[in-house]
Amino acid sequence: MTGARDQGDRVQKTDFPVLPRRCDVVVIGGGPAGSSVAALLAKAGIEVVLLEKARFPRNQVGESLIPHFWKFADLTGVSEKIEREGFITKAGGIIAWDGNIHQIAFSRFGYRRPALHVERDRFDTILLRHAESLGAQVYEQVSAKQIDLNHEQQVVVHYHNKRADTKSRIACRIVVDASGPSSLLANQLSTRRLISSHLKFIALWGYFKNARYLGLDGKSYGPEQLTEIQPATFVQSYKDGWIWHIILRNTTSVGTVIHTDRLKGMDNSGRKRFFLDTLNSMPYLQKLLAPAKFIDGSIQFRPDYSYYSTQPCGAKYYCIGDAAGFVDPIYSHGVQNAFYNAATAAVAIRATLHDPKNRERYSRICQSRMQQFYSFSRSLALGDYGEDSINRELVKSFMRSMPPLELELMLAASEATNRADNFRRLAHDAGLLAELYEGPDSCKAERMEALEL
Ligand SMILES: Cc1cc2nc3c(=O)[nH]c(=O)nc-3n(C[C@H](O)[C@H](O)[C@H](O)COP(=O)(O)OP(=O)(O)OC[C@H]3O[C@@H](n4cnc5c(N)ncnc54)[C@H](O)[C@@H]3O)c2cc1C
Repeated sequence: MTGARDQGDRVQKTDFPVLPRRCDVVVIGGGPAGSSVAALLAKAGIEVVLLEKARFPRNQVGESLIPHFWKFADLTGVSEKIEREGFITKAGGIIAWDGNIHQIAFSRFGYRRPALHVERDRFDTILLRHAESLGAQVYEQVSAKQIDLNHEQQVVVHYHNKRADTKSRIACRIVVDASGPSSLLANQLSTRRLISSHLKFIALWGYFKNARYLGLDGKSYGPEQLTEIQPATFVQSYKDGWIWHIILRNTTSVGTVIHTDRLKGMDNSGRKRFFLDTLNSMPYLQKLLAPAKFIDGSIQFRPDYSYYSTQPCGAKYYCIGDAAGFVDPIYSHGVQNAFYNAATAAVAIRATLHDPKNRERYSRICQSRMQQFYSFSRSLALGDYGEDSINRELVKSFMRSMPPLELELMLAASEATNRADNFRRLAHDAGLLAELYEGPDSCKAERMEALEL
């Protein structure tokens, strides 16, 4: 795009994209949360500007998607583009936890549309371009720096345009912070809290070429068989934490989630050695990776792991997706949470723009919905979630309102680890455990004796 450079109030001809001075909604971040809210708002005819600090495609971890995500993809209208991409469709999961092995086949729960293993750089780019195609104005390599909420009628977002190397600002009626784990606004407002429990995790992951994978039958297959035999996401626990194995079209994502202390004082090469030694010591994983080659330089890690914001929504702002909170991704709920938050925030923002005098009310309702979903994910993923930010009544009402199929799947998944006792207790207290999960026709995780690798 050719245009003018923004220098305070002066405008001058250059090759850099010109950002508008004002719009209805500024979205910060073009991950699944930001792209989806931008798509939904643009679709409703609202003027949206999305600032993304990276240039897409950009790296992202979190490649396993559970099948619930399609309903959100349908909502923004991106489903066909995702289908056309030909991502790997997965049949379910195999979880080896504390010596017990469980298999979960999505088809047994009545799902007709597949779960996916996606390269996130590609998946996120599809979502971002889709938002753009609906009319969202997307500016990559523009980093939001500061959000000024102190004006009566507007929000001012200060940004750095990396390509032009200029600083400027944009005014809007509402800002959406979808900046992922950097939680720009929650940090600025000091509302971001680390979970106060002993579960202080860190994730360490990397990528392999030519790894074998598990089918739902518990047998291992070579990557050349992916077109005939659908893979399962494989999760295995061990004394320090748990690992994932997610086969993609050309690589395999393998990572471990462990207590922060285990990596204390390690530099890059220490982390790499620790990572490869750990994988090598795990009975099943070791076999899946035996013919594989580690891709040098692919190691990444994420500290500062589970957190939440005490006030993700306000009258003029919405923090969504990882910008609002994050829990251990053991049940692949992250992208789902981002989509859910985006859909909820889009409803509240549309209502606010039409009826500004009730803006506080819409933001409160949205916040309570988001906290409901976050609490749901957290009770599922963490055995000990403490009391902070969890509202049991909200989780129970969420359980009652969600499609029974989805809850049944999550109940089955919760049985496969020792993490989710709280989750089952809440389902029991909500009167749903017996109704959904203990009857003769209920679907459960299936016990397996062993894996044949
Ligand atoms: C180890 C690990 C494994 C995971 N596994 C899974 C999984 O299997 N399945 C699953 O569903 N989820 C998984 N997740 C979670 C999932 O990756 C996230 O929940 C999801 O990416 C959240 O989407 P988002 O849009 O909120 O944030 P992000 O995807 O992080 O996107 C945020 C965007 O904001 C941009 N940004 C940041 N700061 C600024 C700024 N100041 N200005 C402008 N732009 C900015 C970033 O460049 C980025 O593009 C995993 C997470 C981790 C850490």
